[in-house]
Amino acid sequence: MKKITKLLVANRGEIALRVLRSAKEMGLKTVAIYSEADRNALHVRYADEAVCVGPPASAQSYLRGDKILEVCRELGVDAIHPGYGFLSENAAFARMVKEAGLIFVGPSPEAMELMGSKLAAKQAVSQYGIPMVPGTEEAISDVEAAKQIAREVGFPILIKASAGGGGKGMRIVNAEADFEEQMQLAVNEAVSAFGDGAVFIEKYIGSPRHIEIQVLGDEHGHIVHLFERECSIQRRHQKVIEEAPSSVLTPELRARMGQCAVDVARACDYTGAGTVEFLLDENHNFYFLEMNTRLQVEHPVTEQITGLDLVKEQIRVAEGQPLPFTQEDLTITGHALELRVYAEDPQNNFLPDIGTLTTYVRPQGPGVRVDDGFEQGMDIPIYYDPMIAKLVTFGKDRQEAIERMLRAIDEYQITGIETTLGFGRYVLQHPAFVSGHFDTNFIRDHFTVDSLKPAAVEAEHKLAAVLGAMLLLEKKTPTSAAQDAPATTGSAWKRNRLGSR
Ligand code: ADP
Ligand code: ADP
Ligand code: MG
Repeated sequence: MKKITKLLVANRGEIALRVLRSAKEMGLKTVAIYSEADRNALHVRYADEAVCVGPPASAQSYLRGDKILEVCRELGVDAIHPGYGFLSENAAFARMVKEAGLIFVGPSPEAMELMGSKLAAKQAVSQYGIPMVPGTEEAISDVEAAKQIAREVGFPILIKASAGGGGKGMRIVNAEADFEEQMQLAVNEAVSAFGDGAVFIEKYIGSPRHIEIQVLGDEHGHIVHLFERECSIQRRHQKVIEEAPSSVLTPELRARMGQCAVDVARACDYTGAGTVEFLLDENHNFYFLEMNTRLQVEHPVTEQITGLDLVKEQIRVAEGQPLPFTQEDLTITGHALELRVYAEDPQNNFLPDIGTLTTYVRPQGPGVRVDDGFEQGMDIPIYYDPMIAKLVTFGKDRQEAIERMLRAIDEYQITGIETTLGFGRYVLQHPAFVSGHFDTNFIRDHFTVDSLKPAAVEAEHKLAAVLGAMLLLEKKTPTSAAQDAPATTGSAWKRNRLGSR
């Protein structure tokens, strides 16, 4: 076994701080890196030591693997945690770390390489009988042959970049006439964004839910899953609100998807924490999308319902320790929600709205967890992802988690920039979300620029209250509905919130 004593976190913002916290609890010495734009960042102050690795642009700082390794040598670091984004899915970097005699807190470079290509991943898992979205098994190059496949699959189809990520590199093609043009655009985009022009075709699933399974593997061949997260509330194919467990999975479906995820992980001898993403269609058929070989942004909801600290588990696995539990030991307790608080304007197409956090007061109290990297008075740098915080709430059931999220959103005070807080409040009160009848088209179907205007909000509240009451009546016998109608019903909290305005 390899003992880790000093950990460098090759990241910034909330995830750097979150990793540093677990490292500290484990008694590790910690090192932060930062760019010139992050001199005053919280992660820099939190770590035992911090080193500036370059100018603001990430290509000159957070992505400089060579510089980071130099820092490790100088400071006697023995392990690197990459967080998410930046170098976290860079197999070449993981290999460099290993060759330098250091521990990379993550899977093997081989597993990262395999799963980093969506096409290679699909090929690798196909022998395990994992259900896949209909489409091409290889990169498409011949336009006519590709058109033929698209015809067989049936329009609309999606052209995707094999190396894509972060919701980028995807194009919907509605009709054959548009195919050639869209394919060319997709290839160009893939080359410029990911340096790899390989694209492929997938059937476009009309009303999918995004359900992903958290997996954890050790170096002794044990792989478990930590249940699902639902991430269907998205903008630009990127998640904004996540929850665990999903409101649609039955225990039987959960077990089947969990087993598939473990099989996917097994296909690449996966070690550490990873996520296997699926789409679930209206008939509850599920299809493998991709595997993310890193800690996921939304991992806190899994931590809340399982009682585990995923960063500590990652570090223990990286030291070569066996997992201290089996699948049978794991259970779901309660319900957790996460709202990504982005510096974005929901009324302007969710475009980044960076600036200064003139007011910044976090919510507190029972069942509330805030993972962030900012303080009042700080600027949101233009160079990086505009996420300010992850607001996570936990309750004994979904309703309590929702109630706490609404309360926490109201307590959260942010001025100086637009954020997704108001959008979060809108979604969490929307009948489609409350009833669990939603999919990845939530914004297209239910959200307009006017949704956050006061009049629309009032109308939405009234509708939600009526529907909430109806749903409740549907579920309960007349006597019990009459008995516990007041404090705990969906409609009651909405009325209370209206009254408090
Ligand atoms: P998650 O599935 O963890 O929620 P996101 O899609 O929100 O992941 O991405 C997490 C972070 O990683 C974001 O900062 C995103 O921009 C970045 N990211 C993900 N995949 C890639 C990629 N292939 N290339 C560049 N950045 C990526
Ligand atoms: P990324 O690497 O950018 O995360 P994914 O393949 O995981 O790409 O897809 C991201 C999101 O795009 C999904 O959560 C879903 O909303 C949408 N999406 C991806 N594939 C399909 C598909 N075949 N049909 C419909 N929507 C899809
Ligand atoms: Mg994905």
